[in-house]
Amino acid sequence: MLSHAYIGLGSNLDDPLDHVTRALRELDRLPLTRLAASSSCYASRPVGPQDQPDFINAVAHVETRLSPLSLLDQLQALEQRHARVRARHWGPRTLDLDLLLYDDRCLHHPRLRLPHPELGKRAFVVVPLHELAPRLALPGLGPVAGLPAWRSAGDLRALLP
Ligand code: ATP
Ligand code: CA
Ligand code: CA
Repeated sequence: MLSHAYIGLGSNLDDPLDHVTRALRELDRLPLTRLAASSSCYASRPVGPQDQPDFINAVAHVETRLSPLSLLDQLQALEQRHARVRARHWGPRTLDLDLLLYDDRCLHHPRLRLPHPELGKRAFVVVPLHELAPRLALPGLGPVAGLPAWRSAGDLRALLP
């Protein structure tokens, strides 16, 4: 069955804009998956430790025939191809790919929670998601336009294309 998934991309190491734009193209080449749309890129302050560079963020909409866990496997393999090293929690990274939403699924698996647990609190996710799907309703969270993260949306800078 064809499913719709939203993926949050982030990078703050080694030319972050290049990592994010390449990753958007690479999402389109994942097995059984097509990139349907991608948001603008945004610059944001880091979550957690502040002694690291700002992030570049974007959100992608993909159509996929992969299951949620198979898609997560593919996203983690793609992070590895971008030489991601997991040093400290919320530390700097070349590429982070979070599975934000998969259809209207709610999941509490040890490897995968859906919707992504921090989604509603993060302007760098909610603003690009709203750019792609302004009328989207999120399972358990309601309309994307009403999420708490909008309070801090002013901290986000959209990059010119
Ligand atoms: P955060 O999840 O707060 O954005 P992070 O992206 O830095 O933090 P990671 O180190 O990339 O966290 O991932 C930690 C684990 O989170 C992964 O091993 C993965 O199994 C799990 N995980 C749970 N739910 C999701 C999801 N919706 N998308 C991606 N990973 C998830
Ligand atoms: Ca993340
Ligand atoms: Ca992640």
